[in-house]
Amino acid sequence: MMAHPSQFEVKRVDRLWHVFSPEGESLTSGYSNRKSADNKRRRLLGLEVRPDVSKLKPSAQITRKCLCCPTHFTSEGPHNRLCPCCASSVSRMDPRMI
Ligand SMILES: [Zn+2]
Repeated sequence: MMAHPSQFEVKRVDRLWHVFSPEGESLTSGYSNRKSADNKRRRLLGLEVRPDVSKLKPSAQITRKCLCCPTHFTSEGPHNRLCPCCASSVSRMDPRMI
């Protein structure tokens, strides 16, 4: 990555991470982790601070095996463990039986 003269720099000083201006002046009181300092640097540069999408799981539908019968069905998510057939029969059941 090429260094840009107008870029703010994140450097570690005395266990804390600081954002330095291109003139070498500390613009922060110090962060305990580099990511916070880097986010601050991005805000100073007017860049968008994006959430870490790699930690978010896609809400893609997956195929699950029904808990009640051998049917495989397209699940809407972790809460959806019954095939549509069993789900409808459960909803018709007396709540005291579940
Ligand atoms: Zn089922």
